[in-house]
Amino acid sequence: MKPFPRAEVSRQALQHNLQRIKQIAPNSKIMAVVKANGYGHGLLNVAHSVCCEQGQADGFGLARLEEALQMRGGGVSARLLLLEGFFRQADLPLLIEHDIETVVHHESQLEMLETVELSEPVTVWLKLDSGMHRLGFSLADFQQMYQRLLACPNVQKPVHLMTHFACADEPNNAMTTRQIEAFNNLVADLEGDKTLANSAGTLFWPTSQADWVRPGIALYGVSPVIGDRGYKHDLVPAMELMSRLIAVRELKQGESVGYGAHWVSSRDTRLGVVAIGYGDGYPRNAPEGTPVMINGRRLPIVGRVSMDMLTVDLGPDGLEQVGDDVQLWGKELAVEEVAEHIGTIAYELVTKLTPRVAVELL
Ligand code: PLP
Repeated sequence: MKPFPRAEVSRQALQHNLQRIKQIAPNSKIMAVVKANGYGHGLLNVAHSVCCEQGQADGFGLARLEEALQMRGGGVSARLLLLEGFFRQADLPLLIEHDIETVVHHESQLEMLETVELSEPVTVWLKLDSGMHRLGFSLADFQQMYQRLLACPNVQKPVHLMTHFACADEPNNAMTTRQIEAFNNLVADLEGDKTLANSAGTLFWPTSQADWVRPGIALYGVSPVIGDRGYKHDLVPAMELMSRLIAVRELKQGESVGYGAHWVSSRDTRLGVVAIGYGDGYPRNAPEGTPVMINGRRLPIVGRVSMDMLTVDLGPDGLEQVGDDVQLWGKELAVEEVAEHIGTIAYELVTKLTPRVAVELL
């Protein structure tokens, strides 16, 4: 019997989405963003599915050094970039040893690069804060930091250049146009690779595609835009979150279900108990009516999600049986739709699954 709950990850879907991104950004290299355990899909599952030896992703974006070391430990030889950069001088020899590139977004990093002794130079991507105001150098400081990096013997030349969008998921928001212009104005005459676009930039702002695009969520088949769906862009969901019915019971009109007893059935019905809960990362705040799929039927969650279980109204004529598969999200039920019911974004749902959920690459 297959384990449950489990997240089935489709290698084919990942490969399809990568090809689709290549179609959308035909002149850009692809830095597949696999931070946060491959957005919950399994870091190495994703990396090996779209690895560059098969002529696919040209590199990978990660948040933390530990993630990059896991990639190297798993035999991934492609280019790796730390999107959050390094934090300690002691990280720098590890970047050299494992051939890991880093973003430089803060003066403290420059100071470390200028004072450390290294056996070889590090490859760096200088980050411009073009309007997001999270990481990066201001428009006023950027040139000076670029010159300092050029003058630093511990820095590989050319210095690469990047920025990140705040609102690219809002296709009419002029902020993205301003960010693109600010970046292009500053880097136009500079050597080095340039990258601006996350998934939303890649999909909706073609002028931002530049030398590299950095898609994360689109690689997993999901749209970055609230109200949108991945399939509308010919993307295929890479994850199916599956579990099982572990009990089916008769519920009488007027009987309540679960903690707090706040959902009360308005009719005699059948109730399905599904083995997944907030201990697995399925949000406790999923409201009544959030759908699940069982045997091709879209059925509503009723009562509170508990740690290991949630309950579903199968209806008076429901024929579901103990042992039937339940899809919480996937090809039949878009994770974007589930996220909308819960009042969150698909990114959060897929990255918050806990280690109790078996992740299986198919
Ligand atoms: N680039 C950077 C710097 C990021 O932080 C992220 C993710 O947050 C991405 C690219 C990928 O974003 P998305 O998943 O929206 O494509």
